[in-house]
Amino acid sequence: MDLGIKGKRGLVCAASKGLGRGCAEALAEAGVDLVINSRTEADITRTAGEIAEKYGVSVTPVAADITTDEGRAKVLEAVGQADILVNNAGGPPPGNWTDWNRDDFIKAIDGNMLSAIALMQALVPGMMDRGWGRVVNITSQSVRSPIAVLGLSNTARAGLTGFVAGMSRQVAGSGVVVNNLLPGIHATDRATGLDGGAAKAAGISVEEARKRREASIPAGTYGTAEDFGATCAFLCSQQARFIIGQNILLDGGALNVTI
Ligand code: NAP
Repeated sequence: MDLGIKGKRGLVCAASKGLGRGCAEALAEAGVDLVINSRTEADITRTAGEIAEKYGVSVTPVAADITTDEGRAKVLEAVGQADILVNNAGGPPPGNWTDWNRDDFIKAIDGNMLSAIALMQALVPGMMDRGWGRVVNITSQSVRSPIAVLGLSNTARAGLTGFVAGMSRQVAGSGVVVNNLLPGIHATDRATGLDGGAAKAAGISVEEARKRREASIPAGTYGTAEDFGATCAFLCSQQARFIIGQNILLDGGALNVTI
């Protein structure tokens, strides 16, 4: 399917690897010129080079912490204006609800809620002026079904979800489509790290922890960054113009609900 976005300009945050990279690759395959970001200079530069070479689009790397004002300023300077924005950042650490203090909550809310809102506030007005835009916020399955040990994530992402529910409907009439994409378990470094924690807690190997988690997914395996990126690119396509303010769950059927 031709997604109709060749020649558009996109920003993908937190994209040197994992889900962000999956989104960047799928957009590049559709012909989108990109600015991509992550903190580690060598990694983001290498990823940008690989994507540019593979898909023949322009890919500008920006090494910056997207959860800070300075980091976002650096990224926004490189982008100028964007037609497509994919918001992403690392997830907060796991823990127990009794342990988190105000600073922990502020850090999580900055990272997984306010950073995305700040980038939408910076880039969506230009999209509205030009009459076309697409925003995908990477959130989590935890928005629909809480993961207790990821309470910081549950909290911050629920806030972003509430914001998007209202804002997406305010901008839809100007041709800007804003949605959230909710990963279940996808085989990235983040998922492997969580397997490591589960293995330690249960006194089993990481392989056994993964096997147990895979058995809990009706599709029988973890998702991939490619699965995720393809859905992201579709949400950025011309064809997605009528999908407004939705929370699209990509979890292999893990969440046992009817709707
Ligand atoms: P990942 O494989 O660990 O990749 C994270 C990427 O984000 C890396 O490129 C990392 O590079 C970059 N990054 C992290 N913090 C950043 C920051 N402050 N500023 C800029 N870049 C940053 O993680 P992932 O699995 O793709 O997860 C992406 C998001 O989806 C996370 O928020 C995660 O919690 C959420 N999620 C993932 C899953 C899953 O199964 N994978 C499930 C639910 C939710 P640097 O470290 O060099 O900055």
